[in-house]
Formats: sequence, C-alpha cells, structure tokens
Amino acid sequence: MTQTSMSGWSLYIRLLGYVRPYWKSFLLAVLGYGIYAASSTALAEMMKRLIDGIQNPDAAFRLFLPIFVVGMFATRGAGTFLGTYFMSNVARNVVHALRCDVFDHMLHLPGRFFDSHSSGHLISRVTYHVEQVTGAASNAITILLREGLFVIGLLIYLLWTNWLLTLLFLGVTPLIGGVVSYASKRFRRISQRIQHSMGDVTHVASEALSGYRVVRTHGAEDYEKRRFANASEYNRQQSMKEALTKATSTPVIQLLVALALAVLVWFAMSPALMANMTPGEFVAFITAASLMAKPVRQLTEINSSIQKGIAASGELFGLLEEPGEPDEGTREPPRFAGRVRFEGIRFAYGEEQPEVLKGIDLDVAPGEMVAIVGRSGSGKSTLVSLLPRFYRPTAGRILIDGVPIEEYRLSPLRRQIALVSQQVTLFNTSIADNISYGVPGASREAIEAAASAAYADEFIARLPAGYDTVVGDNGVMLSGGQRQRLAIARAIFKDAPILILDEATSALDTESERYIQRALERVCRDRTTFVIAHRLSTVERADRILVMEQGEIVEHGSHAELLARDGAYAALYRLQFQETA
Ligand code: ADP
Ligand code: MG
Repeated sequence: MTQTSMSGWSLYIRLLGYVRPYWKSFLLAVLGYGIYAASSTALAEMMKRLIDGIQNPDAAFRLFLPIFVVGMFATRGAGTFLGTYFMSNVARNVVHALRCDVFDHMLHLPGRFFDSHSSGHLISRVTYHVEQVTGAASNAITILLREGLFVIGLLIYLLWTNWLLTLLFLGVTPLIGGVVSYASKRFRRISQRIQHSMGDVTHVASEALSGYRVVRTHGAEDYEKRRFANASEYNRQQSMKEALTKATSTPVIQLLVALALAVLVWFAMSPALMANMTPGEFVAFITAASLMAKPVRQLTEINSSIQKGIAASGELFGLLEEPGEPDEGTREPPRFAGRVRFEGIRFAYGEEQPEVLKGIDLDVAPGEMVAIVGRSGSGKSTLVSLLPRFYRPTAGRILIDGVPIEEYRLSPLRRQIALVSQQVTLFNTSIADNISYGVPGASREAIEAAASAAYADEFIARLPAGYDTVVGDNGVMLSGGQRQRLAIARAIFKDAPILILDEATSALDTESERYIQRALERVCRDRTTFVIAHRLSTVERADRILVMEQGEIVEHGSHAELLARDGAYAALYRLQFQETA
C-alpha cells in the first residue's frame, strides 16, 4: 500500500524529528534514567563494601551501609520519576502531533487517493497505527533508555573492576546481535501484515454495520460473518506468528546471556584471577554480571513493540509522503462574474481506464442556467467535478472569468462553487450547523432565509427542537427529500456565484420538486448554474440544455429547439412522457 521505502534508520530519524520540539522533556527523561542506571549499578558496589566490611567491621561502616541503602533507593526513585513522567510527556506529544499531521494531510489528499483506499483502512491509520507508534514511543523507548543505560552502567562497572573478564563476557554479544537482528526483521514484516489486517477488520465491520439494512434484507448475515471472521482470523494468525517469534527469541537470548555468565564465573573462579581480587570485588563482579540478566531480558522483549512502532510509522510516513492536491495557483479570485469555459476537455480516471470525457467544448455566460441531461454513466458528474478541481483534466483547460482554474488558489476557488449532489452528506450536528457548515457563528436569520429559500423551513419547524435538532449519523432522522432540501439550503447559504446541482432533486417527490423549482429560479438569478437532472421537467426552463452521450455533447439548445430537432433529447422526452402518462 502506501508503505514508505524508507529504511529503519531514516524512519528513526524522521520520528526523532517529532521529538525535537520536546527536547527539554526528553533530556530530563534521559537524565532521570541516567540517575536510575547509576544508582542501580551502585548495588554491585554496595555488595563489594558489604563483603569487605563483614571481614573487618567497624562502627563507621555500620552507619554508612544503611544510609547508603536508603540513599541509593531514594535517588533511584527520583530517577524513575523523572524518566517515566517526562518520557510519557514526550511520547504523548509525539503521538498527538503525528496523528494530527496524518489527519490534516488526509484532508488535502486528491480525489484519486480516496477512490483507491477504503475508509476503513484510512480510519485504522489514525487509530490503530498511531497507537502502535505510541507503544513504541512510550513503553519501548522508556525501557530502551532505562535498561539500556543500566546495562551500559553495569558494563562500565565491570570494565572498571576487571576489564579482561568483561571482554571475555562481551564475546557473546555478536551472537545476541544476530538473533536480535533476525527477530527484528521478522517482527517488522509480521507487524505490517497485522496492521493491514486491522485495516481489513475495520473496513469489513464499518461496511457491514453502516449497511445493516442491506445486509439484513439480503439475508447476508452469514456472508458478512464469514467475511469478518476471515479478516479477523488472518489477524489472529499473524499475531500468533509474532507471539511465536517473541516467545522463541527471548529465551534464546537469555540462554546466550546465561552461557556467557557461566563462562565468566568459570574463568573468575580460576585461582590466578581469584588471587588478584578481594572477596568483595569478586562478589561485586558476579553481582554486576548477573544484574545484567533482567535488563537484557527486558530489552529483548521490547524489540517486538519497537518493530511494530517502526512498521506503523513507516506506513504513516508513507501516507504523509503521498502528494497532496496540486495547488500551485497564486491568483486570489475576486467574486466571480461566472463565465465558465471548457476547452477541449478530455478526462480518464486512470491511465489504464477508458476516456470518460472525449473533448468537451462549452462556453457558459455569467448567470446562465445550463442543464445537462443524458444516460447514466455518460460523464455528467465527471464533467462538473472538474470545476472545483476534484480531478485534473487529462487534456484541455477550464477557464473561469477568462483565467485557467489552475491559476487560482484552490480554497478561494472552491469557496465560490456550491455543489449539491445526489449523495447528501450531513454531519451529526444540529440542522442550523448543517446549513451553515464551515461558517461557525453564522447568524440565525441567514440560516433561516436559506432554509426557507430551499423550502425546508416548514419541515424544520415540525422537528422537535426546530433548527437545533440533531440529525443523527448522516441525517438518519430525516427522509431523503428532507436531506436533499437541507443540502440545497446549505448551497444557498453559501451564496456562491457558481452553483452545481447534480441530481440534487432526484429524491424529491413531484410536489416538493415543483417548490424547489421555484426556489431555484430565484436562487439561480445572478449565478451561473449547472443542473444535472434525470427528470426532464426540471430542466425545461434552462437557458440551454446539453445532451451528453458517452463523454460527448451530442446536442444542445433550448427545450423547444431540441424538441423541434427531434433528436436524442426528443427521444428521451418521449420516453419519459410515456412513462409518466
Ligand atoms: P453520470 O454522472 O453521467 O451518470 P459519471 O460522470 O458519474 O456519469 O461517470 C462516467 C463514467 O466514469 C462511468 O463509466 C463511471 O463508471 C466512471 N467513473 C465515475 N467515477 C469514477 C471513479 N471515481 N473512478 C473510476 N471511474 C469512474
Ligand atoms: Mg452522475
């Protein structure tokens, strides 16, 4: 999918970039873990003093030892606090920043990206994937720093006590390194599969749950159950592979450490070496060496969660690398007069896909109302979706007020285009907020005026809380016609000089459509309007009617002209007339 090609190291470095703003907290955490490691290492030194002290006890030593013990644990406690608290601070901030970056970037990805990625997979990026990075960032880095510094402290202590023995002990590290590296690669590969399968799980669940009516009326519960079980089963299998790798690699590494320890003890007990060390030194050395076991174990155990985090951040950075919508335009448009010109527009959704628009030439005067009719799939929606630059034409250009639309900045361009499509999107907030979407703090009068122009005020008044009624997930509490009237009200509220109605009245009954018709006549004045409609009664009054067939405009003219011509439009008209008669 969007997995980045970055290697492990460049991923770490990129993640570190997120840590940079919190470097103070990070340093405090490192300092805390440094203190922790130093005071833990002091345990070995204490053993030495204890053993040596037992051999020739005195009063000062008796006092020193308890103070040393309390002091050591108090310092270690302070170090743990500093480390734990400030590391969480860094980790949580990093995750927050990363999550927001990913979400922000998604809002600027081009239409093509959403055509080829399921929303389930995208949602799992901002939820599951980001949590994986949290795991790596908070727990794993904590252990890495704390136990890593502890191991370093112990090694320094060992070297200081007896460097020759320590070097012997270290002879086993390449072996450990090999095991860790093999396990890491495997963890990362499996993690990628697990993450992708979490996307599948989210995807299947959200499809089946949001489409629950279709699932039930088609009796497809078993099918969906199986589909979900398969996605989840794959996730389980991969998780078990991960568990197997983890369960194997940890004991293997521990066994290697134990072997090294055994060799160490064997050499340490050799008479030649024993003679050079006090019993205290000897015990301290063995203590320090055996204290290694716990941090080494913890370090090997966190490998899997670090690799998970790396794999997840790879996927997230891959997404961040996806180019956003092109927005090279620099022109700040004034309010458009509304002259729209299509010049030789050709378009295909993908390189291997068939051409959907095959050379469209069209000149629309400001304030003109253009209706587009034609069979489903003839390219009507595609044509109008080029205006707000949801897609870029493969050839030809589109001009608004004489300027190619690429030269305008994207957001002011879109602010001047209101689009109502057949699929209405409502947000789960109040009616008023849905109408004034994107304009916080809009005046109630303006909202009510838009609603009344869309003939929506009367049904809104009947709702329990009027304009403050919350409409439910995508407006489930409303009928199809009511939702469409709200979408039209939203477009009217936007007061844009270019208005696109793509089958916007298809869910309305004839009665309400007649109302809307009247409303549109009012609203369309002073605006350039594109109306795509199935029912030809809707378009009769348009200034110009275009008939599209397979990506081409085959006829254009007024209703009367086209009927007189007795071509494609007349045929469509007769068909509908027969249907309704
Ligand atoms: P109309 O609105 O006239 O019914 P469309 O413009 O929606 O037709 O579709 C025109 C053609 O483009 C159809 O053949 C359709 O399959 C194809 N198409 C529409 N949207 C996409 C898309 N996002 N990706 C690929 N092909 C698409
Ligand atoms: Mg369409």
